[in-house]
Amino acid sequence: MNDENDQNKDQKHKERQQRLKEQVDQRVESAQVEKGIFQVITGNGKGKSTSGFGVVTRCVGYDKKAAVAQFIKGEWECGERNLLEKHGVPFVVMKTGFTWDTQNRESDTKAALETWSKAKLFLQDPSIDVVLLDELTYMVTYQYIPLEEVIDAINNRPKMQSVIITGRAAHRELIEAADTVSEVKNIKHAFDSGVKALQGFDY
Ligand code: ATP
Ligand code: MG
Repeated sequence: MNDENDQNKDQKHKERQQRLKEQVDQRVESAQVEKGIFQVITGNGKGKSTSGFGVVTRCVGYDKKAAVAQFIKGEWECGERNLLEKHGVPFVVMKTGFTWDTQNRESDTKAALETWSKAKLFLQDPSIDVVLLDELTYMVTYQYIPLEEVIDAINNRPKMQSVIITGRAAHRELIEAADTVSEVKNIKHAFDSGVKALQGFDY
């Protein structure tokens, strides 16, 4: 009796998997467009920048070329930078003149625009396969960098180049322009229970 039940279950499972395989095969076959992908990774949970850097690492792992622009606040160290620069990944980092301490709109805007002018060169370089614009969303939200400029630069990038923008509260138009959008949801974060940011894990 049990044997019969098991056989039935096995058969049902096999049929389900077969149907699933057919559906997946069909979708794989119908995806025929070859182009670089524009991805936005947003939301309040942890994992946006690490995900972006994961793609950069993946790209480098195939001996392809990646470049990173970081629109970060303060003087945070970045473990990924320590590693990836050794593998020839160029970084431009907005550091000086932009910290949470100064709150100076003029110097913040200047720093943002300087970094953006270098990031734009990445977006014009067809030899670069993946461009990570880490924490760019805030620059648009604070109107340090004009949204239209960002959208224009991304729309006019080399055809096979992929771009990733990370940061909370991505502008609606960035989300509309993107091919892939992921929202990282905060369920809980160690910081909320008083755990200090940890080198090699948080930064
Ligand atoms: P990560 O760099 O770890 O992928 P992230 O890019 O998703 O994080 P950011 O908003 O850029 O998140 O924040 C960077 C730093 O803040 C990281 O050290 C991260 O651990 C921490 N952080 C991220 N999400 C939260 C949260 N919900 N509460 C508190 N701290 C957070
Ligand atoms: Mg981040």
